[in-house]
Amino acid sequence: MIEITFLGSGGGRFITITQFRSTGGFHIQASKNMHVDPGPGALLRSWRYKLDPRKLDAIFVSHRHVDHCNDLEVMVEAMTGGALKKRGALIASKSVVYGDETHTPAIGRYHLDVLESVHIPEPGSRIPLGEEELVITPSQHSDPTTIGFRMKTRFGDISYISDTAYFDGLIEWHDGARLIIAAVTRPRDMGIPYHLSTDNAVEMLKNMEKKPEALVMTHIGMKMHLANPYKEAEYIENITGVKTYVAKEGLRVMINKKDIAVKTLRPARLV
Ligand SMILES: [Zn+2]
Repeated sequence: MIEITFLGSGGGRFITITQFRSTGGFHIQASKNMHVDPGPGALLRSWRYKLDPRKLDAIFVSHRHVDHCNDLEVMVEAMTGGALKKRGALIASKSVVYGDETHTPAIGRYHLDVLESVHIPEPGSRIPLGEEELVITPSQHSDPTTIGFRMKTRFGDISYISDTAYFDGLIEWHDGARLIIAAVTRPRDMGIPYHLSTDNAVEMLKNMEKKPEALVMTHIGMKMHLANPYKEAEYIENITGVKTYVAKEGLRVMINKKDIAVKTLRPARLV
């Protein structure tokens, strides 16, 4: 079984600064443990859901926006046992490691040096991770180096579509995945550049030859939050026939050979 635990479902500036929805990204437990997009609160939420960050094997960061990478250094610090052991892999966009015209790198030399490997892959690159393999996928975002992935597992493929505008390539890269986790930031009729809306999610799923068994909407922006993302999920599901969930802190998705099930975890009390 593969378990995916959401440590938040928020995205965009206003949800991030208000924490109306938390922004810790998500954790995949397969043959290895990988944290994806450690936004603000990733470390705290990991402990709250008993996911020991010292047991991570890899961290994936799709791009250099603060809602995706804020906790990167502290998560690397945990993965490397307090920066004392050379351990773990970082798989990240170029902007995360080198910065760009408007951002400093999201990780400094001190933390890069304690990682076992640092990958800055282009779309199409394949990165082995235990029994699984990540195929890196493209995005069209205001950070032009943004990446996503399609994880090949023995239970089928799991796709992550991070911040991106809608483009036809999304269908080619993600068609046939069993589960798609996508940053659906905006509700119907309220699309904005560089992000997916409910309408885009419908268009993508409608055009897929082999539709996923389930879609998880995450990176809920303020307009989506106020519009009621559960209604948007119902709309997507009614039109496309694809079971659609809204991510939230503590949502666990379990993938086994025969089905995809979900449950909501109770947070542990932290002293
Ligand atoms: Zn972004």
